[in-house]
Amino acid sequence: MASSDRDADEVLRRVFGYDSFRGEQRDIVEHVIGGGDALVLMPTGGGKSLCYQIPSLVRDGVGVVVSPLIALMQDQVDALRALGVRAGFLNSTQYPDERSLVEAEFLAGELDVLYLAPERLRVDSTLRLLERGRIALFAIDEAHCVSQWGHDFRPDYLALSHLHERWPDVPRIALTATATKATHAEIAQRLRLEDARHFVASFDRPNIQYRVVPKNDPKRQLLELLRTEHAGDAGIVYCLSRNSTEKIAEFLVENGIPALPYHAGLDAGTRARNQARFLREDGLVMVATIAFGMGIDKPDVRFVAHLDLPKSVEGYYQETGRAGRDGLPSTAWLAYGLQDVVQQRKMIEESQGDQAHRRKLAAHLDAMLALCETVECRRVRLLDYFGQSGQPCGNCDTCLTPPQTWDATIPAQKVLSTVVRLRKERRQKFGAGQIIDILLGRRTAKVIQHDHDQLSVFGIGTELNESGWRAVVRQLLAQGLLAVEGEYSTLVLTPGSEEVLFQGREVLMRREPEKAARAARAKKP
Ligand code: ADP
Ligand code: ZN
Repeated sequence: MASSDRDADEVLRRVFGYDSFRGEQRDIVEHVIGGGDALVLMPTGGGKSLCYQIPSLVRDGVGVVVSPLIALMQDQVDALRALGVRAGFLNSTQYPDERSLVEAEFLAGELDVLYLAPERLRVDSTLRLLERGRIALFAIDEAHCVSQWGHDFRPDYLALSHLHERWPDVPRIALTATATKATHAEIAQRLRLEDARHFVASFDRPNIQYRVVPKNDPKRQLLELLRTEHAGDAGIVYCLSRNSTEKIAEFLVENGIPALPYHAGLDAGTRARNQARFLREDGLVMVATIAFGMGIDKPDVRFVAHLDLPKSVEGYYQETGRAGRDGLPSTAWLAYGLQDVVQQRKMIEESQGDQAHRRKLAAHLDAMLALCETVECRRVRLLDYFGQSGQPCGNCDTCLTPPQTWDATIPAQKVLSTVVRLRKERRQKFGAGQIIDILLGRRTAKVIQHDHDQLSVFGIGTELNESGWRAVVRQLLAQGLLAVEGEYSTLVLTPGSEEVLFQGREVLMRREPEKAARAARAKKP
């Protein structure tokens, strides 16, 4: 055994108290200790921190860790100090004298690990400081933040490409839990890591059962899930709005399930208290916005439920990945409906930023919609999104209850024809609800007010019920055969709709077996 192996093993045991490395940790650690550059893709909870912490301790000098998670730096440093590692951080939340103290420790060679916010590297004094000390390695955490294509872009990360020029002999290790093939390549290129060795761990989380259900009555559906499958379990329920996290938490408590809200609008004290209770107590449900979860390390989260559609597959994977870190069976459950698609398309349309930015958001949403509407194994689709291949898993809803597809061309044409009829009333804007009322032949006040019962399409859609039509409209939106526009979420045609209406393009849709969720449960191991 080379001496660096011995050192690494020794540090793993003596400092961190673990018996053995996990997965590729050993290879990564040895490679970096030997002075090599590395690009590490490992899912959340995979154990990325040790990959740079151990080389920081074994190599001479200080391991400089660039991380955008400023809010977590204090915790990370405290955790290392508790293990006897000499750690410190520099970020914008510090008082000048705290900063001077850390700088002095760095120069005196009294630090093993130094966490650095990326914006610090734009400050010339920081670069000069680093030049006066001895650096063991640069670790670039959350490396996907350098990708303009990703969902977390941080302009400060672009400056990290210069590290190599200033410190050509210092090894660099970039780490991320979220990277598609394209982002992966972009990280390598932008951080000038073309010659780095790539370590790509499997993104499969076999103990997580993925399920997507049509959203009809989300509160009742959630309650049923918790009562029948997860009584007494700890879990996270994600909602899009702050308001709904509070309402849902209240609703669960009224129904005898201990739950707490968490969102960025709560004061820091309440947030810290709720988070601490979630970590410490058994069987607590956290109802949260995506503000919750970064850096949360609770092994026995038994379910992650989404009551609203995540904005990207990366987000979905990261959020669901907080379930089942202990390896025991866990559920990733998502309720998704027409309103989700309408709302998110609308949010994208109204979002700040240029055309390219909106196109990026739309592409992220489309990938998420494709995952929701797939008739294939969800795990296979998910892994494929991250550039990895897999076999049908037997542990997702589509494997357990294979959905049927059906020829929805005629219903699609009926919806689109109705949109065409309404388009003629230029000043009026109508959403999905009105279209469905017309197809079903309902004489609602709004239908009568606009004489929509006089349209030739009025009442031509009795072959489906309300939820059937909602599913058709949802899938048309998901497939890009219909679009949403403007303040009132007006439905409008796309080039694809014209093909369906006028060029005989066929439309295949996923049939939602009502009993899918129940069947999946019955077969659950
Ligand atoms: P990531 O940054 O990839 O999300 P962490 O580095 O936070 O993951 O590690 C996740 C958890 O796994 C932590 O609690 C960590 O202490 C633990 N862990 C990491 N490596 C090992 C190992 N070799 N043996 C045992 N536990 C480990
Ligand atoms: Zn599957």
